[in-house]
Amino acid sequence: MLRLRANAVAKFKSHIAGGEQRAIIAATSARKYSTESPLPESADVVIIGGGSAGCNTLYQLAKRGVRAVLLEKSKLTAGTTWHTAGLVWRLRPNDVEIRLLAATRDLLMSLEEETGHNSGWINNGGLFISHSPERLDEYSRLATLGKCFGIDSHIVGPEQAQKLFPPLDPTSFTGALYSPGDGVVDPAMMCTALTKGATANGGLVVEDCTVSQIITGENLLGMKDVRGVLTNKGTIRTNTVVNATGVWGRDLIEPLGVFLPLIPMKHAYVVSETMDTIHQMLPNVRDHDFSLYFRIQGKSICMGGYENNPIMLNRVPGDFHFGLYDLDYSVFDTHIQGAVKLCPAFGSAGIKSTICGPESFTPDHKPLMGPDPTVSGLFHSVGYNSAGMMLGGGCAEQLAQWIIHDRPDRHMFAYDVRRFTPKQKKALNWATERSHEAYTKNYSIVFPHDEPLAGRNFTVDPFHKQMIQYGAVMEERHGWERPGYFLPDETVVVQPYDWYGYYDHPKNANTHYEEALKGDYTFGFSEHHDLIGEEALTCRHDAALFNLSYFCKLFLTGSQAKEAAEWIFTANLDKPINKTIYTCALNKRGGVEGDVTVSIVESGLGGLHDPIFKGRGYYIVAGGASAYHTKCHILAAIQEKAFRAVVSDHTEELGVLSLQGPKSREILQKITDFDLSNEKLLPMNSTAILTIKINPHYSCHVRVLRVSFVGELGYELHIPEESCNDVYNALMKAGYKESLRNAGYRALYSLSSEKGYHLWGSDLRSDDTPIEANLGFVCRKEGEYQGKEIVDRQRENGVSRRLAFFTLREQVPIWGLEAVYRDGEIVGHLRRGEYGYTLQKPIGQAYVQRADSSPITNQFLQSGHYQIEVMGKLYDADCHLRSPFDPKGERMQGIYK
Ligand SMILES: Cc1cc2nc3c(=O)[nH]c(=O)nc-3n(C[C@H](O)[C@H](O)[C@H](O)COP(=O)(O)OP(=O)(O)OC[C@H]3O[C@@H](n4cnc5c(N)ncnc54)[C@H](O)[C@@H]3O)c2cc1C
Repeated sequence: MLRLRANAVAKFKSHIAGGEQRAIIAATSARKYSTESPLPESADVVIIGGGSAGCNTLYQLAKRGVRAVLLEKSKLTAGTTWHTAGLVWRLRPNDVEIRLLAATRDLLMSLEEETGHNSGWINNGGLFISHSPERLDEYSRLATLGKCFGIDSHIVGPEQAQKLFPPLDPTSFTGALYSPGDGVVDPAMMCTALTKGATANGGLVVEDCTVSQIITGENLLGMKDVRGVLTNKGTIRTNTVVNATGVWGRDLIEPLGVFLPLIPMKHAYVVSETMDTIHQMLPNVRDHDFSLYFRIQGKSICMGGYENNPIMLNRVPGDFHFGLYDLDYSVFDTHIQGAVKLCPAFGSAGIKSTICGPESFTPDHKPLMGPDPTVSGLFHSVGYNSAGMMLGGGCAEQLAQWIIHDRPDRHMFAYDVRRFTPKQKKALNWATERSHEAYTKNYSIVFPHDEPLAGRNFTVDPFHKQMIQYGAVMEERHGWERPGYFLPDETVVVQPYDWYGYYDHPKNANTHYEEALKGDYTFGFSEHHDLIGEEALTCRHDAALFNLSYFCKLFLTGSQAKEAAEWIFTANLDKPINKTIYTCALNKRGGVEGDVTVSIVESGLGGLHDPIFKGRGYYIVAGGASAYHTKCHILAAIQEKAFRAVVSDHTEELGVLSLQGPKSREILQKITDFDLSNEKLLPMNSTAILTIKINPHYSCHVRVLRVSFVGELGYELHIPEESCNDVYNALMKAGYKESLRNAGYRALYSLSSEKGYHLWGSDLRSDDTPIEANLGFVCRKEGEYQGKEIVDRQRENGVSRRLAFFTLREQVPIWGLEAVYRDGEIVGHLRRGEYGYTLQKPIGQAYVQRADSSPITNQFLQSGHYQIEVMGKLYDADCHLRSPFDPKGERMQGIYK
């Protein structure tokens, strides 16, 4: 290995000049496929950046008849794209991503026929290497999900894998997943084919054109909007700009006060000397456990991977065109040992050249896409995390829909810039930590309940310290800490990020939190399964207290608040003051952008929970993990319709405790003099301001909502920050004799799934309509609201896919993504999988779809023999139209038999 390294370094040095030469060749060949055009005065859309993201976007827009122009400061591909490894995989633990990757592959396969230019696509297949049973389990999950989308893949033994890729040493690994449809793409050929396709449809490419400024104005409602771009060749008027500037993604937008959590890093691979045993059609190899990949280039192997100590860059100079860095072997060395072990022939071949270039990375290893919520007309398509070739086609197709139709047709939340709060986007230190961890863990097994160690304790709620004292093991969502579950009598503090001991950083001595996480590193039942079950069952039998403080809390007020609320929300909000209503908010395609509770409120006394305003107000409470997304959706609708309405965000100022269970009323009644009976203050689905007695001399006011996310009699207390600790202590004291205990999100999600409630982002998404999700009952038939025509049409005609519940007869853990079979045919996959502790069964939700897309009826759902595929094995399942737990909803009414 040492010999190889010395050899490699020597060879690398002799290749520096070669690297420059490569750059020049690429630049000259790039010139051939762009047009030398004068700058137009105006355009429908200006795309800044001529890499994979920009070229794909131009192609997709031009094909749809949009007058789009792409401006590139150098030549096409000059940024990261020209030196990519170009691997195109298809299997990911996420259905949306699988479809995006499939869209790219389909495009690459069809471009030549359409444009007459070979897209550079080679279908050589892909092998995923495994060294452990858990890794093979993960591959089984991928294979199962792949089946739902027609992706052929199968688990093979080491010898079979070696037959596919002869230089592999079969004794060095335990198994593999083979995906024959994977491949590679040549970046220059791809961009040529794309731009030829685009220009044939009226798209325009202008090279050597540097955008120095995005010109903005202010619209009637005071929001910044795009007016044009300023370049070295002149100005173009436009209302829509796509930021596809790759590692330069932050540079042009920061002067506008727009920030993105995008971190440029050096990313590399090496190219071996030619080897006799290698030929171009050998499959790509991805060894997650060794954190490396092989790609064939002629008779050489390109080898790269993800290191623990990547070099992070503050900025990349503006003139870094077709550039490469010297490879730092102190960083890259880590891959060589694994590569040689896996493929001894690679070790003896020596290294011909090295490719180390800049690429942009993000805190969750997903791109940053979609409309900027603060500048109207500005769209992003950056931060591709070393997957911009394989995601390019699929993402650009979605972006084109986003630009033209306001929303993409897939659920792009995981890619949407709005998944980050403004606070997260501005905090470069936070983004750096998280992007580092996401980079180093890119090839780690994706367990259903893993948590980051970086960027933690970024936002904590007022109960945080108390929760920790009670043994909370925290999870992180949307930058907030929230209790996952409680380890009684233990104190589990998330430590400051130790960079996994790299960059000369000492490793944390306290590893308690990391140890707790390891209990979930399995696809079997978690080590914490029983403990979470105790929390869930206490909620069903006695009472449990959930800290929901990171929930989104908004007041919608103003002279047209009523019109705005009625346009945005589907339910009938024409209700008396103090009613609380569950409702959806839809996009123009009828997809669910959020599900929330809206309480009709009147002006109060000026407290955070009880503000002063004129007229009728709406208190909107939404899930925390998508809080900013929900808020942006509401604001965008108000902007578009120019409603005179104001949204004030009280998320960080109000703590929320949710007291749930048969004994919840008894407990709450102990600390208030108000009569909490149904007949008096608080019937189901209502709100009131309550006085809580902290002690004989001191009381405080909170807003209480009689709602439940778990299907029990229960109350949500929305508490001004300064009273949070007192109210929490008072409740714990009042509930002591009634066996009240803290419970976390793991129990909450199990309980809500068992009850059949939706969880936005998993079983309810922007690509599901309320009718498909069995939520037609929250969509009013009268009046108008966004997306109503779709709902009305589907109500009338029926839908070709519908949400159904599945319980398994055997005690097998399910996590979501498992294929659902009906009479031996795949009809969907689980969007969500939980264990129902009261039902004592695994329970999951899937959208069932017929092969011929004919309407799904109750009769269809209730007939047939259902099975769920878990780790490659089929288990009998029962299908339910609604969850079998308390179908009449009696418990929420306080009726306990
Ligand atoms: C070593 C390595 C291996 C990789 N392997 C793979 C792989 O196997 N599979 C895969 O899918 N992905 C891979 N990637 C990632 C992939 O190559 C990138 O994600 C992709 O190329 C990014 O494309 P982009 O269009 O976002 O950025 P870029 O290609 O960098 O394009 C941005 C363009 O914007 C231009 N620009 C910037 N500012 C301005 C301005 N002000 N005015 C005008 N133009 C401007 C730049 O000149 C540049 O051409 C790899 C990356 C690296 C570094």
